[in-house]
Parts: sequence; C-alpha cells; structure tokens
Amino acid sequence: MTRAIEGWFTVEADGTHLIGTRCASCGTIAFPPRAGFCPNPACPGESMEETRLSRRGRIWSYTVARYPPPAPFVVAEPYTPVTLAAVELEREGIVVLGQVKDLAPEELEVGMEVELTCGPLADGPLVWMWGRAS
Ligand SMILES: [Zn+2]
Repeated sequence: MTRAIEGWFTVEADGTHLIGTRCASCGTIAFPPRAGFCPNPACPGESMEETRLSRRGRIWSYTVARYPPPAPFVVAEPYTPVTLAAVELEREGIVVLGQVKDLAPEELEVGMEVELTCGPLADGPLVWMWGRAS
C-alpha cells in the first residue's frame, strides 16, 4: 500500500513504528526525522541517528475536524469527520499528531493511553494513526 509519506514510519509484523532521529551529541529526539543539524539550539551537533520512537503515549489534546479542510487536502465524499489526537510519547515526551482510529471522540480523554497503529487516509495512502491501547 502506498505510504502517505516515506521515512517517517514503518509497518512491520510487530506493528507500526514512528521513525525519529536522536542527536549523537546531546540525545535530543526529533520527529519528524531530521538530518544535518540538532534541533536543540544549545547543541552544535550535526550527526542525527535514526531511532524508533515509543509505540505508546498519552493523549495531550484532541479535536474533531467536523468540516473538510481546504485543498490541497483530499476530501472523501461524503466527508466523514476526522478525529485528531496530539499524543505525548511514553519515553521521549515529545508530542506527535495523528488521526484517531476506531475510537469515538466520546471515548477520548486527556491523559488516556493510546497505541500506534496505521490506516488509510481518505484518498488511500497509508499513514500512522493512534488507536486503542492493547
Ligand atoms: Zn544535539
């Protein structure tokens, strides 16, 4: 299946993994992955190593997009509201946005644990999503 974006996530037998980078000098984690410079302004590091990020985290905030976003966003017809969650990763503490899969907005609450999964966007390509923690 076509990926919505290459190099930011991988889907394997044990599940979906986000791919970030870790600075070899100071250990700062970045997502999406970066090359060439460290996002920490106090660090001159230029060597970023690819690293897999936590597959679990807790909802930091969430929203339901009840109206279709403007182009170039590709909207499925009829438009189905999309739930988006900002999730603080278990180990890294950084917040990663993603669509919510198989969880109704009424089921969500800030602080709730979720787990990384994947699913197709409205126009088909596969992307990471946040789902129910197993
Ligand atoms: Zn650094």
